[in-house]
Amino acid sequence: MSDLISIAQARRLVLDAVRPLEAESVALEQALGRVLAEDVESPIAVPPFDSSAMDGYAVIAGAAAELDVVGESRAGHPAGAALGPGAAIAISTGAAVPDGATAVVPVERTEAAGPATVRVPVTEPGANIRRAGEDIAAGDVVLRTGDRLAPAALGVAASVGRAALPCARRPRVALLVTGDELTEPGEPLAPGGIYSSNGYALAGQVERAGAVLAGRERVPDSAPATRAAIGAALDAAEVVVVSGGVSVGPHDHVKDALAALGAQQRFWGVSLRPGKPAWFGTRGRALAFGLPGNPVSAMVTFQLFVRPALAALQGADPALTRTTALLERPVARNPRREQAVRVRLDAGPDGWRAAPTKGAQGSHVLTSMLGADGLALIAPGDGDAGAGERVEVELL
Ligand code: AMP
Ligand code: MG
Repeated sequence: MSDLISIAQARRLVLDAVRPLEAESVALEQALGRVLAEDVESPIAVPPFDSSAMDGYAVIAGAAAELDVVGESRAGHPAGAALGPGAAIAISTGAAVPDGATAVVPVERTEAAGPATVRVPVTEPGANIRRAGEDIAAGDVVLRTGDRLAPAALGVAASVGRAALPCARRPRVALLVTGDELTEPGEPLAPGGIYSSNGYALAGQVERAGAVLAGRERVPDSAPATRAAIGAALDAAEVVVVSGGVSVGPHDHVKDALAALGAQQRFWGVSLRPGKPAWFGTRGRALAFGLPGNPVSAMVTFQLFVRPALAALQGADPALTRTTALLERPVARNPRREQAVRVRLDAGPDGWRAAPTKGAQGSHVLTSMLGADGLALIAPGDGDAGAGERVEVELL
């Protein structure tokens, strides 16, 4: 690990190795959070026909008048006949404007003048009519390749009649947590044991990134077990994430196992705190990440390197989780390494303000991630990054 590379260089190496996954058709009900694999063009105008914006009467625009009410147009039930002079047609919000009508008078502005007669005021042409295609014209591209589908996008897709959308397949991620000390929550702790928090925090990050957790396994600190588990994971998933065992201790077997399994190293060691001992390599199209075992380091390196890969595999823009903010108070720089400081973001008059989360920020202090909205990236150097300095923030 002699030549540490920067966060940006490491990210570039990861993204260069990504080949986007193929598309599949996804029913609208299942498509929230999925990434669109093709542009969606509307085959129809929305609204599809001229419709009323109010409950009232469809009329021929003009002077105040007393009109015979000759029919009704309800939502889903257009009037049977066209409108002629001296007549009005009762109309509901969303109902088709009858042929011949040029305006709608809201019911509040009318008066009954007899059992089937209504008095209307002077009316401008087009009043209270929503024109066909005011929202979407036929042929408009309404959603674009790479969009992550939010609730409004699902609504728009439905409004143009799409029951399913072509979406990138969700990447399958096999998660391996290594360490003889690891205990599953719910089991008693043996002497020297700790609960495996990485198995759960990283699994949450996998799901948040739109990927599928293909497996979560605890692997003991033995070379054969590590090799067998990583080998099976490489066969089962397009992304393998291993936590712990990636350093140079006598019981760290991850890098040797990956090499023996034919994975090609792309980087080892990032000039990052926390998260220096991060490894990345590929075997064929499979991506393998060896993340440090320390819980904060594991989450930080997932966020900075694995999450962009999962976004790019789905054809989404990996840079969407970047913003900038002004530091709320000084942060001591690390002389050599870029720091990922857990920060809360608050809206200020001049944009986001980033305040480090309370308490210690050590790589083992997982509670420092609680309440963090992002990771402020503090460049290395002497002294402090000052209050008010603008820094890049990776949004969690
Ligand atoms: P390692 O990278 O294997 O040397 O582990 C570094 C530190 O992270 C050690 O203190 C481990 O006990 C701890 N650690 C490793 N894996 C996990 C895990 N799954 N959950 C919580 N802590 C872990
Ligand atoms: Mg270990």
